[in-house]
Amino acid sequence: MLDIKIERTSAPKEKPADETKLGFGHIFTDHMFIMNYDAGQGWHDARIVPYGEISLSPAAMCLHYGQEIFEGLKAYRTADGSVQLFRPQENFKRMNNSAKRMVIPEIDEEFMLEALKKLVDIERDWVPHTEGASLYIRPFIISVDPYVGVKPADHYLFMIILSPSGAYYAGGLNPVKIYVEKNYVRAVRGGTGFAKTAANYAISLIGQEVADEQHYDQVLWLDGVEQKYIEEVGSMNIFFVIDGEVVTPQLTGSVLPGITRKSAIEICRKKGYKVTERRISIDEVAAAYDEGKLDEVFGTGTAAVISPVGNLKWGDKVMEINGNKIGPVSQMLYDTMTGIQWGKLPDEFGWIVEV
Ligand SMILES: *Cc1c(COP(=O)(O)O)cnc(C)c1O
Repeated sequence: MLDIKIERTSAPKEKPADETKLGFGHIFTDHMFIMNYDAGQGWHDARIVPYGEISLSPAAMCLHYGQEIFEGLKAYRTADGSVQLFRPQENFKRMNNSAKRMVIPEIDEEFMLEALKKLVDIERDWVPHTEGASLYIRPFIISVDPYVGVKPADHYLFMIILSPSGAYYAGGLNPVKIYVEKNYVRAVRGGTGFAKTAANYAISLIGQEVADEQHYDQVLWLDGVEQKYIEEVGSMNIFFVIDGEVVTPQLTGSVLPGITRKSAIEICRKKGYKVTERRISIDEVAAAYDEGKLDEVFGTGTAAVISPVGNLKWGDKVMEINGNKIGPVSQMLYDTMTGIQWGKLPDEFGWIVEV
């Protein structure tokens, strides 16, 4: 196993005074993890160093052809002051699945978990104390060869940066408004939808603009072939409760396999709900709404955990769900998941990794 060199900063930054104003993704901690890959040598020189700028050739391949992958997870501070991670092994496993698709060399998942724990341990004081706030963790890999030809790179950087982030719902768990996109698509069969890669986000920005213009919060993407079946929201997976049954789109390759999604399915099953992963068309959702059987709609993702959907707009049809209020399944999932993450509930599933 690789060892990790540690260089501590001589100029620690001041920590944010008001944790209720953290927002998301603006502030970074004192240190970062970095490791290099060179063809023939593999991953090497794992190190934790002061957070700072990196220098790249303007020809660095990631800047031109987007060979990049990333992950997103959080560290939580519990009431007794300990710091814990939620299913981090799943993130490194998914990162390797993304790596395969993007022809990026795989990482040693066990080593990366140890490296992450080391980094978070060094930055322990940066994990927020305020209820609902957490330390967002962003691992990513970029290709760095100075070459403007198209091919998989021979040189990569793997980095982890950390960002203290505020409670997603400062004003409580409020339902969001979701706009069903009918023109643009996010992913297609055989494409990169299941990989966490920058390209998927670059091509989705325009859909978000359309949603913004209509005063909607996020986009619901339909499948890229028939534009009929539901896939997911911008950065969340989507669930429906139809006539008491929990339904979510199956993982067909164009949907990102969310860890929150997987956890929500496991919790619902354990609590005795029937959960089905299958194809679900937007027509079926609209029909269920008309029949009064669309009980709840919610999104799942690391950032917000559970996002109840109060309003779903498909063309001219506006569906108000559950009276624009959070429903019982959404509330149960939110309470259970955040309870486990912040150590308020026992970890019955074995999902927690202590730092
Ligand atoms: C990261 C991500 C999700 C949510 O995944 P989690 O592991 O639950 O955070 C959903 N959709 C997309 C496109 C994503 O990038």
